[in-house]
Amino acid sequence: MGISGKRMMTLLKRLGFERLSTYEGEERAAAILAEEIRAIGVEPHIETFMAPRYTVKKVKLEITAPFYREIEATGCGFSGNAAAEGIEADFAYIEGFDPIDLVDVKGKIVLYAGGMGISAYESLIKAGALGFICTSGSFRDKKSETDLEERTLRDKHIEHGQIPGVTIRVKDALSLLPKHPTRVKLTLEQEEGEAPSRNVLAEIPGTRYPDEVILYTAHYDTVRFSKGYFDNATGSAMVMELLRHYKENPPMRTVRFLFCGSEERGLLGSMAYVKDHEEELDKIRLCINLDMAGPILGREVAAVTGEESLCHALTFYYKVMGYPMSVRQDIYSSDSIPFADKGIPGINFYRSAAPGTSQIHCRYDVIEILSGESLARTTEFVKGFSDRVINAAFFPIEKKMPDNMVEKLDRYLLKKKEGEKDGKKEDEKEGGKKNAGQKDKKTKQN
Ligand SMILES: [Zn+2]
Repeated sequence: MGISGKRMMTLLKRLGFERLSTYEGEERAAAILAEEIRAIGVEPHIETFMAPRYTVKKVKLEITAPFYREIEATGCGFSGNAAAEGIEADFAYIEGFDPIDLVDVKGKIVLYAGGMGISAYESLIKAGALGFICTSGSFRDKKSETDLEERTLRDKHIEHGQIPGVTIRVKDALSLLPKHPTRVKLTLEQEEGEAPSRNVLAEIPGTRYPDEVILYTAHYDTVRFSKGYFDNATGSAMVMELLRHYKENPPMRTVRFLFCGSEERGLLGSMAYVKDHEEELDKIRLCINLDMAGPILGREVAAVTGEESLCHALTFYYKVMGYPMSVRQDIYSSDSIPFADKGIPGINFYRSAAPGTSQIHCRYDVIEILSGESLARTTEFVKGFSDRVINAAFFPIEKKMPDNMVEKLDRYLLKKKEGEKDGKKEDEKEGGKKNAGQKDKKTKQN
């Protein structure tokens, strides 16, 4: 039996609910994946790890002078708590985080139109701001048709300290600013802690070189409000289909399948795997990560986190197959990163959606823009390439990470301090991917 787009679409539908890190939906999705693996005839393993979890109990944003107005807001996860009765302070609006932008924010609650990157947050704290308001969405949003995103700070944010923050609709910021608010009151109460998240694993041992492992990864979690069909039930369904393929066609090398939880919270599932399996990492020769495919209108892409020769090999292969594709040497903000950081080459196959045909990380990540035919085509290509590598007489990919990729990984993982020029990456770390096109260009922003 070959690759079936119909079967992948059926799994997509089964996974079509919010699968938020550490919450019931993510756990339910892990159980569905385990059940599918078992049905294929392979024994699944679920590995639990702890991930940060917060619950906002109370959030309110009020303009108190020179007029009164309450503004719809969501609390920013892990930004701490405002005093029980809220904090009231002068209002400041800033357009950047350079010292000149920050001269007058001390003791104030600060509005910035955009997301809150790590270095931005650090600057704000150093400048003495008491709280922050960031924005989300578009001026075109109809409130009944869009959800106001809830942002989350990461460890790298809060190591600089904690000031409470909220997100408001950019549409509200637009109408508010011309009225010159001077005082605001921010109320935020949240519980911060951690809870279990899950990686789902399966493996088919190699018939000839069992100690050489090719790893497939795909995350199955979503952000809040998203049913995550495109991001990333598609990648999960593809990995499942490849598992089925290798169960039916025993591979020469060992093939391992890792369905990651909590990717949207900062690659936490793949990071937990790398941490818990340090001693096995030397066996892993290649990571093939699948994060988003299936758009009816789109373009095939491969981002190679490895030697340039691997780009050439892929380019040669897609030409031989008559399969148009964009290949580039780059990192890709997904689960191949923690492995690449350990020197394991990664190939991220994905299909970027044509402009205007997809939205992710919101309620519009829908199944209607996807097709089984499109999914099957990409999966066939990945299968064809994988077969040649996995069953090669001599493993053709050197386990080496070139300096330019190490540099990018270090920046992404914030081992090196990000310059303002590259500030985009900071927003990325906060977890904001807006749509595939943007993801493609690495300009994910909140
Ligand atoms: Zn994703």
